[in-house]
Amino acid sequence: MENEIITAQYEKYKEQFDQILDKIKHYDKIAIFRHIMPDFDALGSQFGLYNFLKENFPNKEFKVLGDNHVTFTPNGLFPETNKLNDSWFNDDFLGIIVDVGDEKRIADPRFKRAKELVKLDHHPITDTNFTIDVTDTSLAAAAELVTSFICYLENKYNYKLTKEAAHYLYIAIVGDSGRFLFGSTSRHTFEIASYLLSKGINIVPIYEKMYEKGISDLEFQKFILNNYKISKAGTAYYVLKDSDLKELGLSSEQGKEHVNLFSAIKGVNIWCSITEDTTEPCFRISLRSRYFDVSKIARKYKGGGHLSASGAQIDSLDDLDKFIQDCDETILNSK
Ligand code: AMP
Repeated sequence: MENEIITAQYEKYKEQFDQILDKIKHYDKIAIFRHIMPDFDALGSQFGLYNFLKENFPNKEFKVLGDNHVTFTPNGLFPETNKLNDSWFNDDFLGIIVDVGDEKRIADPRFKRAKELVKLDHHPITDTNFTIDVTDTSLAAAAELVTSFICYLENKYNYKLTKEAAHYLYIAIVGDSGRFLFGSTSRHTFEIASYLLSKGINIVPIYEKMYEKGISDLEFQKFILNNYKISKAGTAYYVLKDSDLKELGLSSEQGKEHVNLFSAIKGVNIWCSITEDTTEPCFRISLRSRYFDVSKIARKYKGGGHLSASGAQIDSLDDLDKFIQDCDETILNSK
């Protein structure tokens, strides 16, 4: 499918896309990685690319690395990832990293054993040396770039985007664009979504699985509504200690799932979830805003991300007041 907007976008990257294609042709074994605590975009980009590659290069071995998601794997939104022994990594293999650029957040450290590394991402951070690095921070989702790559290969070389791959890529784009709501959503996002729909995917069951909630979610939201705090400058947040997680039957990973309860509230400028993670141990923060650059705050607190959606952490709740003060200062200084 030739489309002016999609073509103009991938023209910028065609040299790198050709180089990536050469690498894919060169290696017999290819492993696809993404970030820890995966979201729709990380998993959708990963499984979308995996399905496309598997169908178009049937004689090669492709693997999907990283932990399974606590909700999305059991509910069937995404399949299980591959569990590989260390010996698999002894042969030469190509590593493809999607939706992440910083080393400490890549979900399986064995990406370091790849002979060469390719990255397709939309996060601003890159602290690893990639053989080929395609990063476009203007895109709503990493999957927008993955789809752009695939569309280029389809138009130029006649490779085929399968319905199954389109299904996963669509989930990713809907997820990271907040159902086409966030400011990062562009004409390109819509054109790419339309291209995916042209492959015959059925969006109704996709939305059902992505946004289906249970009674436990109601209880979770009740907890937030009963316990949230809001500062004078308009930083809204909730704290989930380990004991709260246990009482609500949630994993630490799920703590951020309702952070966007605040997203449409007038007077809320920055909103965050603060969730204890006893494994690190630390409190993980998911930061969101419509107008203020939260990535700067996140970087101050061992994190990073996008202007309006970032992740960070504090060692203990002793640092919470300071963190909220930083959010407030960001609001007050930008006004
Ligand atoms: P989260 O709040 O975990 O959903 O993260 C929001 C966005 O920020 C996602 O795109 C993450 O990939 C990104 N992000 C989260 N934590 C970090 C981090 N420590 N460094 C860089 N990016 C991050």
